[in-house]
Amino acid sequence: MEIRAAVVDAINDITVRTVQLDEPKAGEVLVRLVATGICHTDLSMLRGNLPVPTPFVPGHEGAGVVEAVGPGVTSPQVGDHVICSIAVSCGQCYTCARGETPCELAGSLALAGTMLDNTVRLHDGDRDVNHIFCQSSFAEYTVVPARAAIPIRPDVPLAQVASLGCGVATGLGAVINKAKVTPGSSVLVLGAGGVGLAAMLGARLVGAAKVIAVDIADAKLAKAKSLAADETINSAEVDLSDAVDELTGGRGVDYAVDCVGMEGTLESAFRATRAGGTVVAVGIMHATISSDIDTFSLIMEKTLTGSYAGSLSPHRDLPAWVDLFAAGRLDIGALMDRECKLAEVPDVLEELERGAFTRAVIVH
Ligand SMILES: [Zn+2]
Ligand SMILES: [Zn+2]
Repeated sequence: MEIRAAVVDAINDITVRTVQLDEPKAGEVLVRLVATGICHTDLSMLRGNLPVPTPFVPGHEGAGVVEAVGPGVTSPQVGDHVICSIAVSCGQCYTCARGETPCELAGSLALAGTMLDNTVRLHDGDRDVNHIFCQSSFAEYTVVPARAAIPIRPDVPLAQVASLGCGVATGLGAVINKAKVTPGSSVLVLGAGGVGLAAMLGARLVGAAKVIAVDIADAKLAKAKSLAADETINSAEVDLSDAVDELTGGRGVDYAVDCVGMEGTLESAFRATRAGGTVVAVGIMHATISSDIDTFSLIMEKTLTGSYAGSLSPHRDLPAWVDLFAAGRLDIGALMDRECKLAEVPDVLEELERGAFTRAVIVH
């Protein structure tokens, strides 16, 4: 079928035009997209900071309605409302067999440009067009693995929950699934963008007593304070370690989550965490970022770990979080502050780079 999609033909070169989408193959479903969140990772791929073979269609926070299913698919069914999750799994590898994450294919599924069977469903005339995260939802329709199309209740607005496909689920899951934040604890979140704000909402949800937001933009910190943070620190103006010491009686926080992933941010999170505390790396600005951690602190029972895609069990987590949203207990809708059309995507990606909004969503 012919569909409109945003196509990246080369680094920094993105246009919206008509391409061809194949029928779903075995184990896949066709989704008519209702909304697609725009994630910083889409921008990183456009800029060449995360290498994806061109041409490709970005977009990995799709939500929509299943229009057709391929051979052998029993769930989801035609008509189901689904969130297309980046937590794509093969179901057969060493970690999948153990019910653990990430799937051994996760990294290559994100960036290699193909579906699970190493072929593509998108074409531009006689040229193949690559996928990201087996999804490519900057488009009117997408074909995704059935295992990654997570059915949710049909009564929630898909534009409000589409970011559970990646960014919002990444923040919530890092805190709930990976850090396993306990009630009454203190949680430091570096970065008050969409992922960081979701991490703060998650910390609130599970009963953290003190949520501390860190950023270098006062506007983002104000939003964090209005939404989920008890305290804010502008790390461009004050020393982060000193500020955290002041807020924690010199002890450091119980948990720190680095949603930024720039040079030095993980080290800052690590230093701000108490002996015995837990630090989770979540964001990464560039594939080559590395960190320098002091071993003595690790020996003092400090845990340094990372979380990919919110360490999700998507069929368990996403419907549950949608239920909490519907019940008014998890305000992820407040993160969406820019709506646009598919044709506007090239411009909106530039707005994202300028930090003009928290989270944008394409409404198809
Ligand atoms: Zn993302
Ligand atoms: Zn696997």
